[in-house]
Amino acid sequence: MSQVGTPSNPLRVAIIGSGPSGFYAADFLQKTKDLSVAIDMYDRLPTPFGLVRGGVAPDHQKIKTVIKAYEKVAQHPSFRFFGNVAYGTDLSRLDLESHYHGVIYSVGSETDRRMGVPGEDLTGSHPATKFVGWYNAHPDYREEQFDLTQENVAVVGIGNVAMDVIRILARSQSELMSTDIADYAMEALAKSKVKNIYVLARRGPAQAAYTNPEIKELGEMEEADVTCPADEAELDEYSREWLTANPDRTVETNVEVMQEYAKRTPTGKRCRIHFRFLVSPVELIGNGKVEAVKIVKNKLVKSDDGSMRPKATDQFETIPVGLVFRSVGYMGLPLPGLPFDQKAGTFPHEKGRILDPETKQPLPGHYCAGWIKRGPSGVIGTNKPDAQESAQCLLDDLAAGTLLSPGSAAPAAVETMLQAKGVRYVSYAEWQRLDQLELERGAAVGRPRNKFSRVDEMLKALGK
Ligand code: NAP
Repeated sequence: MSQVGTPSNPLRVAIIGSGPSGFYAADFLQKTKDLSVAIDMYDRLPTPFGLVRGGVAPDHQKIKTVIKAYEKVAQHPSFRFFGNVAYGTDLSRLDLESHYHGVIYSVGSETDRRMGVPGEDLTGSHPATKFVGWYNAHPDYREEQFDLTQENVAVVGIGNVAMDVIRILARSQSELMSTDIADYAMEALAKSKVKNIYVLARRGPAQAAYTNPEIKELGEMEEADVTCPADEAELDEYSREWLTANPDRTVETNVEVMQEYAKRTPTGKRCRIHFRFLVSPVELIGNGKVEAVKIVKNKLVKSDDGSMRPKATDQFETIPVGLVFRSVGYMGLPLPGLPFDQKAGTFPHEKGRILDPETKQPLPGHYCAGWIKRGPSGVIGTNKPDAQESAQCLLDDLAAGTLLSPGSAAPAAVETMLQAKGVRYVSYAEWQRLDQLELERGAAVGRPRNKFSRVDEMLKALGK
């Protein structure tokens, strides 16, 4: 047999998860000079693109144009997509080891971080991740229910996801018309009674995780006023000192925008977004369902590493709310047959090589990329260098001769295996048909896209 990576014996790589990091890893391998590579990308959903489809807010359509780059990767003659194939049920580590020289896991962070306060699981308290999946037509969250008859809502955390959730709650129907929000979510939001959105930040406006455009965008919405208590928009002494020593235009702008919001007089729009800084939820209160959130006032203290952390005072306040979205970050989940760092919610790894926790040595041929490697941080583009680093490790291991030696390296063997297991996989061409159908369904109602939200609906549309 000729050398692996040559036209007669291409390097066979499986990528598990078809989000940005999976596509960036594939792109890097495809563009490697003098390498013949055949990539099979798997996703447990029939649809590709991960959080670009199921996470990016529907009113941020421009961000989704990044898909064009992924479509180019998918056009490569040796690229195959196997949608509707779940690692762990349809596909095992052993299956992958028998068919590929290397495997890259780019499965993202599939669950949410916990706040760790009493009442967190009361009815009416939801991880923001579920709401995001619901309004983006992700099949896992299709049946979720959110009680939008509530007038008062709390959003905990002020990261990018929190901003997305706030906007979607406060958008007008005409604003939502130009989005690809799930049709059932648009209908539910049309009947929403939400009036007050309390946004709870445990630190100050100088530590906000949102971006300048995001915070400005909230102040320009058709049906929402933004307010903030003037004293909470002011910087505490440590933040002021820090900002003087480390001038940062982004942080300064975030602070200026919030101070301008604090001066605004609400104009009586349908919704009011109340930013609250230096407060942490200590309990969700309610008899079976959320009726209020109890918060403690914080002050900022300096940590040994120089960062500023919130420290609770003895001042409490209770805000009546009937719905809570906990937007305090995502968390990775383990995959069967692979090691996992439970605390970090990521694979133990070195530069993307998955490590055996006992020996601390790499598991030959197994790599990770994206959020399951580094945790849920950064923007879409952050995944490019991250995935390239992992793919480079795979190439270095190819050169060192330490990759897997699959017994069934013929491409057709994969299809035979999946068919024998009765897996109804969806090819890239079939995804393209779904894509076209979604665009047509959207055009029929004057919207950019009308997504399928159930796997059986998608398979039926494909005649499967
Ligand atoms: P994030 O950016 O890490 O923000 C989490 C927020 O929750 C922070 O405000 C954090 O405050 C707060 N928090 C954490 N634990 C808390 C607790 N126990 N109690 C109260 N507050 C708590 O996470 P995210 O918003 O879920 O976003 C995840 C990733 O997706 C990020 O990398 C983000 O940039 C990315 N994303 C990007 C976009 C975009 O580019 N448009 C859109 C969506 C998501 P502290 O700062 O005090 O820790």
